[in-house]
Amino acid sequence: MPGLIQKNRSNSNMKSDIGSRALNVALEQLAVTAEKTKLDPGIHEMLKHPKRSLVVSIPIRLDNGEVAVFMGCRVQHNGARGPFKGGIRYHPDVTLDEVTALAMWMTWKCAVVDIPYGGAKGGVSCNPKEMSRAELERLTRRYTNALLDVMGPFRDVPAPDVYTDAQVMAWIMDTYSQFKGHKVPECVTGKPIIIGGSEGRAEATGRGVFICGREAARRLGMKVKGRAVAVQGFGNVGWNAARIAYDTGCKIIAVSDSKGGIHCEKGLNPYKIYEHKKKNGSVINYKGCENITNEELLELECDILIPAALENQITKANAENIKAKIVAEGANGPTTLEADKILYEKEVFSVPDILANAGGVTVSYYEWVQNLDREHWSLDEVIRKLENKMVNSFNDVYEIAKKEKSDMRTAALMLGIGRVGEAIKTLGIWP
Ligand code: NAD
Repeated sequence: MPGLIQKNRSNSNMKSDIGSRALNVALEQLAVTAEKTKLDPGIHEMLKHPKRSLVVSIPIRLDNGEVAVFMGCRVQHNGARGPFKGGIRYHPDVTLDEVTALAMWMTWKCAVVDIPYGGAKGGVSCNPKEMSRAELERLTRRYTNALLDVMGPFRDVPAPDVYTDAQVMAWIMDTYSQFKGHKVPECVTGKPIIIGGSEGRAEATGRGVFICGREAARRLGMKVKGRAVAVQGFGNVGWNAARIAYDTGCKIIAVSDSKGGIHCEKGLNPYKIYEHKKKNGSVINYKGCENITNEELLELECDILIPAALENQITKANAENIKAKIVAEGANGPTTLEADKILYEKEVFSVPDILANAGGVTVSYYEWVQNLDREHWSLDEVIRKLENKMVNSFNDVYEIAKKEKSDMRTAALMLGIGRVGEAIKTLGIWP
């Protein structure tokens, strides 16, 4: 799904490879879980296919006066448990297959943490690093316009994902509201607080990832304080997970972004790295640290590894070399199926994405509830609710894993897909 005027760096074969690999992983997970749980074959068939996939072209005028046309999409996977919910990704590698996989994972994720949403995802194939804020605003408003018929507070509620932030959500809310003729804050989550965003939403995914890492450490009989943590990706999820881990007394030994990583055995201060990245555009070249590659970061000696960048990072090629005791997946789909098996055999405690990074959609749900009630909860209240939700969900998955003698991903998929299947069965197939 390339932009018609190609401003993207990646070649389209590579893009479709990444996307189709992610979709294969998602479909294979569904097939294995369907067999294990004896899921009704008709429901399995339904869940293989998204309810709706909308592909749109987005023409915008660039700052230099030229017109560029970008391809975007929104995939609504399954809405048996409630309105569709899922992030919007701006990235050169976005493809329909990738977004479909991400939408499917959203369906399971919302069910694992038992919030009343179905799963969706959106994406625009563009390179936001090469675009001005004004171009991004025009792109966002035009993309929102193209989704008007399928989105809305009780239909489909977008949120941030890779390279989209609170400001992008504000433009989405404003565009939707302009067409409705009144403010509709509940049409999107992850907004700035001043226009109805929730306290604690920006940090929620990272906080949830940290909570899962901490709970996994407890199960292994380790105190989380003093543990060595390596974080791949220093965006919303990675930065917040690193800072909350640091504030809790962990030692952050490595972080990275798309340009590379840094390693410091003695531990580094993520707040200082954040400032350094803001000034220099990357975490690399930080004094006192050794520059490393993203691949090297994954293989470092550490207690907790947090992949918080993109899909397909831990594969059969490097899984054997992973030395972390715990992997808490901040990113969606960072581990391939083959790698999963290898990690399990190595007794690495892996907390899967559909549980570990569900803190974001959980606080998005809290934001939606606050918007519908025209309420504003305190940060303490949001953190308390999130903490309970994540710990309870972790326990639910852990108990299934113990009973089934399985890894945590299998258990989470059994819980999530099981709940969605039950909802479909209970509702019946219309007509
Ligand atoms: P972001 O745009 O804020 O940050 C992405 C980070 O990844 C940046 O630091 C970027 O430099 C880095 N990165 C990009 N390409 C990379 C590469 N090839 N190698 C290493 N690093 C690379 O995005 P985010 O919101 O932090 O999302 C990160 C991951 O977490 C994604 O997989 C996303 O789907 C997932 N996730 C995000 C949320 C959320 O609330 N934002 C919720 C659930 C899951």
